[in-house]
Amino acid sequence: ALKTGIVGLPNVGKSTLFNALVEGSKAESANYPFCTIEPNVGTVPVPDQRLHELSAISKSKSTVSTTIEFVDIAGLVAGASKGEGLGNKFLSHIREVDAIVHVVRCFEDTDVVHVDGSVDPLRDADVIETELALSDMDQIERRLQRLKKGGKGKKGADAGDVEAEKKVLETMYETVEKGTPARKADLSEEDFELVKGLGLLTMKPVIYAGNVAEDDLMDEAASNPHAKALREKAESENARFVLVSAKMEEELVELGGEERQEFLDGFGIKQTGLQTLIQVAYEMLGLRTYFTSGEKETRAWTIVSGMTAPQAAGVIHTDFTKGFIRAETVGYEDFVTSGSQAAAKEKGLLRSEGKEYVVQEGDVILFRFNV
Ligand code: GDP
Repeated sequence: ALKTGIVGLPNVGKSTLFNALVEGSKAESANYPFCTIEPNVGTVPVPDQRLHELSAISKSKSTVSTTIEFVDIAGLVAGASKGEGLGNKFLSHIREVDAIVHVVRCFEDTDVVHVDGSVDPLRDADVIETELALSDMDQIERRLQRLKKGGKGKKGADAGDVEAEKKVLETMYETVEKGTPARKADLSEEDFELVKGLGLLTMKPVIYAGNVAEDDLMDEAASNPHAKALREKAESENARFVLVSAKMEEELVELGGEERQEFLDGFGIKQTGLQTLIQVAYEMLGLRTYFTSGEKETRAWTIVSGMTAPQAAGVIHTDFTKGFIRAETVGYEDFVTSGSQAAAKEKGLLRSEGKEYVVQEGDVILFRFNV
């Protein structure tokens, strides 16, 4: 499964946010068999309004969200790449994730000690990013040395391939050394492909989560210059930015569904930063959702963008790929306006798709297969 790692300096609110993610998902989804794999790994349902609409239309007995995994990666401090504070161990945890949520403290609170004495999101983000960059430089250098010593490169690579990889690595090194993340290097798709195996940390897509006091949630620009600065940084890097209040999320977990909505309405917000964070992470991982919907159950399923109908069927059960015959498909909007699959069929909106069909975001599918 694809994983999103939560990183940031100590005392910025990572654990508070992670606990709200995990506890909130337990409270919210009675239907989901919740599991914690390790203390710092949480499986979290992806909020999706469409799922509930479909479930209501189909009068389903149960409604099941799809999920993504978050990992709380605590302990990253300045000097981590040189082994400070178990640094390398934390960096290796980051290497295993597919996307990063970088939590940055934007709240003022004299009761919560800041490791560097003051609130300064750009400086803080820079501390973390420097560690990631140093680790990447180290990684690239080691790979380069191996190739220069006459290492063989990848399986089946010839001398030309090795030269190509060296050139890409050198460009990457210069990029990262300048403080630019590797993902922004001026290289082609094929070039990036050549060094994918290195698992460079600054290759991973990033969401900056600005952690603010709850009062700053409504109008961050006016009330919180820290959050504004962080948002501008994210925009300049084409990275995503989400405003959250870890403290408020923690309190919201305690409230039931209705109370919770009232609380949000009071703040004039539709959904919490945490819900947005989950959705943005899901999107950034290149994940897509299709649905199955009937009386028994309406359920959201996760696929990777570009998957064909038999592959998508395999997400439900591997046997479905082998036995795949066809996919009876209605787009989400068409399903909702028609009111049922049968009605969509009458209107000619139900398509019978074969093996080559690439499943689209929001498709509502009934698979036909041999068992
Ligand atoms: P971590 O080290 O990044 O995991 O930080 P924690 O989640 O353990 O939070 C450190 C301290 O900051 C705790 O005492 C939290 O209650 C507090 N904290 C976290 N988020 C907020 C926030 O949004 N506002 C305020 N005032 N305190 C917070």
